[in-house]
Amino acid sequence: MLKNIPKVDKVLEWPEVKALLAEYPRPVVITAVRNVLDQLRAGLLRGDATAASLEIGAVTERVRTTLEQTNTPGLRRVINGTGVILHTNLGRAPLSESLRDVMLDAAFGYSTLEFDLETGTRGKRAVHVEKLLCTLTGAEAAVVVNNNAAAVLLALSSLAKGKEVIVSRGELVEIGGSFRIPEVMQQSGAILREVGATNRTHPRDYRSAVTAETALLLKVHTSNFAVVGFSSEVSTEELVAIGRESSLPVMVDAGSGTLVNLSAHGLPGEMTVQEYLAAGADLVTFSGDKLLGGPQAGILVGTRECLEPMKKHPLLRALRVDKVTLATLEGTLRLYRDERQALRQIPSLRMMTVTADELATRARTALRRMRRALPAGLSLQTLPGFSQVGGGTFPLLEIPTTLIAVAVADLSPQQLEEKLRTRPLPIIGRIAQDTFLLDLRTITDQDIAEIISALQSIVASR
Ligand SMILES: *Cc1c(COP(=O)(O)O)cnc(C)c1O
Repeated sequence: MLKNIPKVDKVLEWPEVKALLAEYPRPVVITAVRNVLDQLRAGLLRGDATAASLEIGAVTERVRTTLEQTNTPGLRRVINGTGVILHTNLGRAPLSESLRDVMLDAAFGYSTLEFDLETGTRGKRAVHVEKLLCTLTGAEAAVVVNNNAAAVLLALSSLAKGKEVIVSRGELVEIGGSFRIPEVMQQSGAILREVGATNRTHPRDYRSAVTAETALLLKVHTSNFAVVGFSSEVSTEELVAIGRESSLPVMVDAGSGTLVNLSAHGLPGEMTVQEYLAAGADLVTFSGDKLLGGPQAGILVGTRECLEPMKKHPLLRALRVDKVTLATLEGTLRLYRDERQALRQIPSLRMMTVTADELATRARTALRRMRRALPAGLSLQTLPGFSQVGGGTFPLLEIPTTLIAVAVADLSPQQLEEKLRTRPLPIIGRIAQDTFLLDLRTITDQDIAEIISALQSIVASR
């Protein structure tokens, strides 16, 4: 049977495969044919391939499937039915639809990236975004880098290289993906000076650790965990007071960092970036794609004294962002000039603040639409449940939501989950208590149409 495996050249002459050459570049088809023949050889050697698998039709079909797979982008859109709003695995914050043109213009044309239209000479990258950040937060200066991890690295390298940085033991955070405060500190060349205990740190702990070697007092937001029970931390105001006594700057790694007071919308009362600065922090760093709801970026805002040296730091060149990021970050920040507009147009903020009543109403409408369009053999039901913010933000928060439970006759929830996940436009849900669930909080009305057509084809091809 091994001898019956056709040669690559022969396969390329089959009319069925010739047709594929009209659709795909020749080298791509050759690679696909070679891969399929290698797989067949391996299958025969293992003893789990049949003579039928060597027939023209079967081989061609495998070549076609292989080509289709290579033609699908690895990174592509999915429908997020998990209810986790800033889903780290699904790309965190989705951008506002209103930024589509801004993004395309920046990507496909020339732009004023480093050009000053008034003088007709070279301009500074990011000035537009920096001005907007200052207006929105009340900061004197701002810098934008690749992500918040880069922001912390740049800040520590610039402010504290070779010197000591005082941090509470309760704030030596690991964010995941190997971002750990002690390790970033080491990379920056700053020396970590831990104070206090895991659960309690007092102002006197910071005061007694200050020496001639101290360069910075650092406060890190414990984004993805909570210390509860017998615990106490030093507030930003208290830390600023300690900093002032010894002429030391105070930096806050705010993690998510929000520009909107979310407690007015039923979410936990987090200090806003503006509030950290008003409390006297010299520098605040935060992410662009967590609570802000913009592109992946790290934002530093604070005093001129802290930030001017960073603008000249050699690391900045390595950490700077591209024009598409700058354009979409500027667009996102513009929405914040009117808070109500930000809440309406930034998807993650909208998903976080949509009321339980509105979700229940949307669920009823969606269910009616789905029931009308879908055949028998499918059962749909709404259930109460909980969504999460995700992205290491508000780890204890469970927001009441409405779930749609989907069941297809003759398919287990696991089989249904896999079929939806492996479609050309993947639909990601979750299974709880042996039921497949989609959370309406992270699903748009347009997504419903996609879900309906997915379920139609799954039911039809059972
Ligand atoms: C998320 C987070 C980071 C890392 O931010 P990225 O934008 O993901 O690089 C750093 N510090 C804190 C406290 C965070 O919550």
